[in-house]
Amino acid sequence: MRLIALEEHYHAPSVSQALANAGRPKPPPESFVARLQGKLDDLGAGRLADMDAGGIAVQVVSQGSPGTEQLEPGLAVPIARQANDYLAERVAKHPDRLAAFATLPTAAPEHAAEELERTVTEHGFRGALINGHVRGRFLDDRAFWPIFARAEALDVPIYLHPTEPPPAVRTAYYDGLPDRFGDILAGNAWGWHVDTGLHVLRLIAGGVLDEYPELQIIVGHMGEALPYFLARSSRNLQRQAGLTRPLDHYMIENFHFTTSGMFSYPPLRCLLDVIGADRVMFSVDYPFAQNEEGRDFITGAPISESDREKLAHGNAERLLRLDRSP
Ligand code: ZN
Repeated sequence: MRLIALEEHYHAPSVSQALANAGRPKPPPESFVARLQGKLDDLGAGRLADMDAGGIAVQVVSQGSPGTEQLEPGLAVPIARQANDYLAERVAKHPDRLAAFATLPTAAPEHAAEELERTVTEHGFRGALINGHVRGRFLDDRAFWPIFARAEALDVPIYLHPTEPPPAVRTAYYDGLPDRFGDILAGNAWGWHVDTGLHVLRLIAGGVLDEYPELQIIVGHMGEALPYFLARSSRNLQRQAGLTRPLDHYMIENFHFTTSGMFSYPPLRCLLDVIGADRVMFSVDYPFAQNEEGRDFITGAPISESDREKLAHGNAERLLRLDRSP
């Protein structure tokens, strides 16, 4: 089974340095991220060996969170460019195994649109991955719409990925808990995911998909809780807020979803029930999740063989135009 994985991360040296210079503390050496730093830095032999061991044919690689979204505009523009050129050089050495999503200087939206076009046309990138809010502003803000306009015009998707909550959200929702519970609940145990689900609902409520009806957005982690809430959110947004189309119309026209880091069958069944197999794609979330775990999850999933082919590689090949032998 050919496996293509779409939410697979690395860290660009220029982004790490810029975040450190901006005062962001380094993760403590014993932390989850620090222990994975070697894998995040590796775009060569070590990564390919891990892909071989876990049966992954192709990784579409992107900058992990936090990225250039949290840099001030004047800095984000050159740093994103450096990061994308660095990634392009390494991906080009393994064109049959690695592809790329651009990192964008979202705080400077016109420059971000230009950088998206540059990376797609010059480097063959497959779209961009945006790590959530932009210094506390969500992408439904019209200032960011040039990015969506360009993605639609280029016919490439935007992967909307989680990031840390804005400081006010962190304080109100997660302070006061013992030990590290606040940190982890604000992050990959809950907060990142519901924040990203909310971000998707904001894009719909804010009219982004009505303005750009061909735009394709990828959402990880089995849909960031949206499939489970879809009927209730849709009904109440329509009845009480005047949303003109049901949410599932947007979902099956403008969104794709991946399995990244969520290797559990009940949420997969929910996602397939409400969205359908044509818009669900395999992903691991390497190196934060393990390739072997992802492979075992998809090869053992209680789904038809034709659906397994769609999830494992077929839908990604169609959306990202990944030929079998690039
Ligand atoms: Zn991820």
